[in-house]
Amino acid sequence: MSERAARGHGGATGWEPALGGCDYPGCGETEAFRCRYVDRRRVECGRAGCRGHMRLVGGQGYCMRHASIVEVLRLAAERGTPLQPPDLDNRAASLVLNVARSLEPGLEVRLRRWAGMRHRVFDDPTVRYSRPDRGRRELGRWERIWALAGHNGYVLRVLLRVEDPRPETVVLAADGIVLHQEIPPWISHRGPQWPSPGSPEAADERRAFVDRLLAVLDAYAARQGLASERAEPGPDR
Ligand SMILES: [Zn+2]
Ligand SMILES: [Zn+2]
Repeated sequence: MSERAARGHGGATGWEPALGGCDYPGCGETEAFRCRYVDRRRVECGRAGCRGHMRLVGGQGYCMRHASIVEVLRLAAERGTPLQPPDLDNRAASLVLNVARSLEPGLEVRLRRWAGMRHRVFDDPTVRYSRPDRGRRELGRWERIWALAGHNGYVLRVLLRVEDPRPETVVLAADGIVLHQEIPPWISHRGPQWPSPGSPEAADERRAFVDRLLAVLDAYAARQGLASERAEPGPDR
């Protein structure tokens, strides 16, 4: 809870500290800051750079690439022709977003049911980029997070994740435990013998993929005793 509250957007200005040092190749600077850029889909850049490799625009720190983009956006806004922040060109981030959209309806129903009267549902639509430990050469990950919180903190955190070195594999995790990993059928089934994108067969495959994710989550919630905590009678779907 605190992590999200502390990292809200738009509030604080200036430099947002990042752990692990500057991301720019060949730069050994250990004091680094996060790029504050968030695209129109709410995917954040999250790249870390030192003061020499970042720039302040409008009081916020951005990586060099996004500093230029934000300058253009600000200029456009001043001229009364506002533009949407362009999408980050990143396959892993787009895959998280794509699967999150399909997963969300079924997941929201479940979270509300598991929350019952005792817990609150947290849903942050931002796709966040993080690199857990650059010192140990852990690679970055793009994540979308949903959570249930009780009085003493999280009772469930659901993470949908794609990691930099495996940009085609979708990982579903809960509370730090990986529940499922799969390359979605629309990526793995490329070729003439497979359903063409947009066909009813392709839609069936996508639905089956989402159902697999929801099924492992249901099993996990049952093991955690969440599924048995009945909500107040109400719409179940
Ligand atoms: Zn640097
Ligand atoms: Zn950036």
